[in-house]
Amino acid sequence: MSKIPLPRVVKRPLVRAWNEAHRLGWLARDYASAIASGRHEHCTVCGKTGRMFYRRRVIPPRLVQLWGLTERQAEALARKESCDCANCGAKLRARRMAEVLLDLYPINGRRASDLRTWAGSHEAGRLRIAEINRIDGIHETLHDLAHFHPSDFIPNAHRGGYVHGVRHEDLDGLTYEDDRFDLVLTSETLEHVPDLGRALAEVRRVLVPGGSHVFTAPVAPHVARTFPRARLRRDGSVEELAPPIRHPGGDVGYQVFTDLGMDFPEILRDAGFETEVRFGPVSDDDLAQVYVCRKPTG
Ligand SMILES: [Zn+2]
Repeated sequence: MSKIPLPRVVKRPLVRAWNEAHRLGWLARDYASAIASGRHEHCTVCGKTGRMFYRRRVIPPRLVQLWGLTERQAEALARKESCDCANCGAKLRARRMAEVLLDLYPINGRRASDLRTWAGSHEAGRLRIAEINRIDGIHETLHDLAHFHPSDFIPNAHRGGYVHGVRHEDLDGLTYEDDRFDLVLTSETLEHVPDLGRALAEVRRVLVPGGSHVFTAPVAPHVARTFPRARLRRDGSVEELAPPIRHPGGDVGYQVFTDLGMDFPEILRDAGFETEVRFGPVSDDDLAQVYVCRKPTG
């Protein structure tokens, strides 16, 4: 059957309507699934109690295959990368980071119930915070704090420069001065930096003594020892040391330079941090740990 070409003026709204219908279809399914499984929780980011949307499809089969994940691990990873709050959209990993921040920084000695409430306090307003790469949910909640410094990795941008109002920072070499921040936030970023050791040294450098790096990272339970999957050559090209993996698609997305294994906490301690693993240990059923790395005061 021959296709009848549609004029662009008709095609565009049709495609938009199709995509929107598709999105609403998924949303309806997510809602039904959340109701069926009784996932109804308090959100530590926005403070609302509501449905959390588990979406197994966020971890594609190609990523599972390339990374060698079992179905159990893939489901745990899908929980980490979804279970979005119906109200604010924060994923499980962002909500757990929020929980850790509430523990670390009480208001008048008391733990706030959620990050939104916390962000309205004087204590939060005084903290100097760097967010290296946007963390959905947390970014919007902390955005209006007086000393909140968000940045993103923007390819080909000038380090420390702005593109459409967004500052470009690269963990391979931050442009911030030494001892600049009380708190550095990253989420699922360290594995994409060509030199993990250098990235950790950079975070340590910009933290004040006693300051903390609070972050999530993809540590796999079946990887005993951390290893480089790729490295950058001097000319800027990438040398593959193991079959390449990209996030989130497997073949598509951001290149993984380091596969993080079960020795990751040791690596963090060797990089000069007092390290705590929250929601640990890493297991086949829970991959959503939050790491707290404190720069020693001594
Ligand atoms: Zn929420």
